[in-house]
Order: sequence, then C-alpha cells, then structure tokens
Amino acid sequence: MTVLADAHRAYRDDLLREGLLISMGVDGLYGRSGAFEQVVEGINAAFSAVGDPDGPEVMRFPPGIGKLQLEQSGYLKSSPQLVGTVHSFTGNDRDHRAMLERIDKHGDWTAEQKTTEVALAPAACYGVYPAIAARGRMAQDGALVDVYTYCFRHEPSIDPARMQMFRQREHVRLGSETQALAFRKLWMERGRAIIGSFALPFEVEVANDPFFGRTGKLLATSQREETLKFELLVPITSKEHPTACVSFNYHRDLFGRAWKIETDAGETAHTACVGFGVERIALALFKHHGFAFKAWPRSVRDVLGL
Ligand code: ZN
Repeated sequence: MTVLADAHRAYRDDLLREGLLISMGVDGLYGRSGAFEQVVEGINAAFSAVGDPDGPEVMRFPPGIGKLQLEQSGYLKSSPQLVGTVHSFTGNDRDHRAMLERIDKHGDWTAEQKTTEVALAPAACYGVYPAIAARGRMAQDGALVDVYTYCFRHEPSIDPARMQMFRQREHVRLGSETQALAFRKLWMERGRAIIGSFALPFEVEVANDPFFGRTGKLLATSQREETLKFELLVPITSKEHPTACVSFNYHRDLFGRAWKIETDAGETAHTACVGFGVERIALALFKHHGFAFKAWPRSVRDVLGL
C-alpha cells in the first residue's frame, strides 16, 4: 500500500509542479489549468463525435440535486459515506456574533450550519431520472439523454485520479430491458474504440460500486454476479491497480421503480448509463504521453482536436 501511496503522491506532485492541477489545500479538490481543460474538451469532443449521431436529448444540470431526489434514488441506503449535503447559516444576529467569535478563536464555526434543500450530485445521471419521470409515460423509443456535470464523492485521497469533485460525461438510456442492454453492449464496444484511439492501454472488467457496510458487501456481490457493472480500466499510477476511467452500468428497473418511470407499454422502465470520467482519462493521457500535449502522437492529437 505504501508503494501505491508513494506513486499517487509522486504523480500528484508532478501534476502540481507542471501546473496542470492547482492546489486548493484539500486532498481531492483541485483547480485545472487551461491545458488540462483543453484535453478535457478534446475528450468530450471525441465522445460527442461517437454519441451525437444517436440524437440524444442534451440536459445540463448544476452539481447539486434536491435532497429529496437523493433520498428517492436510494443512494443513501447504498453509499451514505460518499454523500455531500450543502449546509448554510440559518441563525440570527446573536448566532452570527457567536460564530465570528468562534472563528476568531479558531474554533468550530460550523455548528450553526443547517442542511439546505440541496445535496451534491453523486453521479451525472441522477438529474435525468426524475426529469424523464415527470413527463409521464415514455414514447416507444424510450429516452436517450446526454449529461455532463460535476459530481461529488466524499473520499479524500492523495491519488489525483480520486478527486472529490470531478466531471462525468454520460449517455443515459431509459426504455425496455432489451433497449437498455443493447445500449450498454453498444457503448462497451464504443468505449473500447474511443480509449483505444487515445493510444492508452486498457482492460474491461466486471466491477461493483463501493457500497457501504455489511449490506453493501451483499449488494456488491450480487452486482458482480449479475454483471450489472463493467469498468474500463487504465493503468495510471500503477499497473496492478488500474483506474476505472469509463463505466458501463445496467440498473435493471432500480431507477424505474424509484421514480415510477414507465415505458409506452406501461411497464417499469429499465435504465443503463455509460459514464466517462473525463479527469481520469485526462490524467491517463498525461501519464502515458507526457505533460505537454503538443508532443503527443499525431493520431491522438487528431482525435482530441489538439
Ligand atoms: Zn450514470
């Protein structure tokens, strides 16, 4: 573990020294440089080049979702340890003075902070399900949505590829079981092709989400046994512990039931999503091809439009 931690720290130090990431004083929270963002935009462009011809409906959500929406999604049951909620000061003048005094004494000023209606989005697709559900029964084709948003997961780490705030670019498919599974199969081929065109080494494996606690172990086992989740892994700081850069998820009717999403036949919708972790892919590109993208292989720069 120490070797791995050293590798994480070394790569993070490199990225900070090169100015690609900007320290914000918190593990997993970074600014991005212009060059880093150019690469991220290139990854998005490569994703769009493949996905846009499907004609997805584009939705862009802020990095927050309603606290009630988070509850309804079931995420609090499976992954409470990753959740972030937005708090705000709700006291009166006296509370405010007391808070400022505590700050002066370097004490805890957060006692007066109360949760708001807003939670942070744990995944880009969480805004999509309630939005589609609110429209009533879907058409025969179901729905296909393109989303891109900042997500939050509370897992501070010195691994630059495990950020607390990061972006996911996703396509989300809602429809019948057949439609959801066909979508995932198609994107597993496309995901391989896209990452291959970036000249990155990778493998695709069955995976599970990092569910919480004892119940979480059972959830993870059944998720693997039913092959609901696959990940495309790229070695970034370690060959033995490659990093999940793309995930291909089939949720069965989990979100369909949670949000009462119906197919045109009146059945509970099945859903699937493909998510590209754009920061992780950018970090893999910098690791494998060097810190200056102008020196990357021509073919890779062409795909990324760099
Ligand atoms: Zn998703």
